[in-house]
Amino acid sequence: MFKNITIDEKNKDILIKAISKDRINHCYIFVGPTGTNKRESAIEFIKAILCTEEEKPCNKCISCVKINNNNHPDFIDILPTENSIKISQLREMQRKMNIKPYESNYKVFLINNSETMGIPAQNSLLKSLEEPNSRVVMILISKSSQSLLPTILSRGQILHFNPLGRIKFEEEVSNYNLNTKGIEDLYNLSQGCIAKAKYILDNPEEILKFDKFRDYIYNIIKRDYNKVFQFSKWIKDNSIPNEDVLNNMLIIFKNILYARIQVDINEGKEVSDYLTYESIHDIIQDIIDLQSSLKYNINFQLQIERLLLKIQEEK
Ligand SMILES: [Zn+2]
Repeated sequence: MFKNITIDEKNKDILIKAISKDRINHCYIFVGPTGTNKRESAIEFIKAILCTEEEKPCNKCISCVKINNNNHPDFIDILPTENSIKISQLREMQRKMNIKPYESNYKVFLINNSETMGIPAQNSLLKSLEEPNSRVVMILISKSSQSLLPTILSRGQILHFNPLGRIKFEEEVSNYNLNTKGIEDLYNLSQGCIAKAKYILDNPEEILKFDKFRDYIYNIIKRDYNKVFQFSKWIKDNSIPNEDVLNNMLIIFKNILYARIQVDINEGKEVSDYLTYESIHDIIQDIIDLQSSLKYNINFQLQIERLLLKIQEEK
């Protein structure tokens, strides 16, 4: 298990033991930022739960093949519709839970982006968690534990998926022949999230896009008024996901903050004198607030323009 997936040793141990001892919990909650292999690990675990061979997952049996082709009748993959997991999807899940597994001993439900569930949806999910069915396994994937009700968290086994530390990160990307600066940039851009880093390596245009993104932000900080709306149009034209816009901004402003505090940091130095320590701090807080309001279907473009105009007014 987990031969080709980078996963924390502790999590790996828990999941492998669950399979080898055939003691699979009713509910698991995988928590961590984007790009930490939460979904990849969940799929691997689900494959192992449903695999019919000794060496699980074998990737050869009918069950494994069906999961690879995304047509296993006992694996239900629940993805957000229009940005969030809806109460109707959870009701449908509950209905399916009452039907016996078709081909295996278990029926497995994977709820992706659980952080997008509103309170009513979470309460509906709670019902399913309170009436455990021994044939049902639920895996919730969430970017943060704070967006889930404590009553939900208390009913599942929580596994934390963390970004990698610098040394481990370097090991993981060692076969890409990057120089020190390349590793530094990649680490910053991916924030140590290995799946994200590998995506960037496979799509070098992502780095160019980020450079362009940073140029816009720097020019906005330098009070180039036209840039706010040009930037807003640019992110729309390039279909940059809202989440990525905020992540990139967070990376950029964190670097500016470090440059403001420490003299020997180059990244962000170019603009750090335009803003005070307090205003950088405020901006970072605004970005974080905006991140947590994403699930409420806000008018993102309007909110981001407001934030950028505010940045220009900061001193
Ligand atoms: Zn198999």
